[in-house]
Amino acid sequence: MRKSGVVEVRKKHPKIRKNDKVIVLAGKERGKIGTVLKVDPEKERVIIEKVNMVKKHAKASAQTAQGGIIEKEAPLNISDVMIVCNKCTEPTRIGKRVLEDGSKIRVCKKCGEPMDE
Ligand SMILES: [Zn+2]
Repeated sequence: MRKSGVVEVRKKHPKIRKNDKVIVLAGKERGKIGTVLKVDPEKERVIIEKVNMVKKHAKASAQTAQGGIIEKEAPLNISDVMIVCNKCTEPTRIGKRVLEDGSKIRVCKKCGEPMDE
């Protein structure tokens, strides 16, 4: 039995994964599409290839011979991006389907196609 006062743990956004293609929904990068390089579920942030580039000053070190300014992806809030379906190429939500063997796969809510190979 469920007692009142039990806080239901709100699910974060575990569904977006590395190598997913996503579209940015908010901010100055709105409308841009890129591949997810990194997901940080703790901070709810994602890094998307070539999106939200920021210039950073690099100090000269053994790795970077002369230092200077480098461009680097800055993280975006995971709630500001939406996955793009490979099959129908539409921004979509991720559904879930349980296969006969019990394994779960992600499916596109628009076209119903599996999102994972
Ligand atoms: Zn689709």
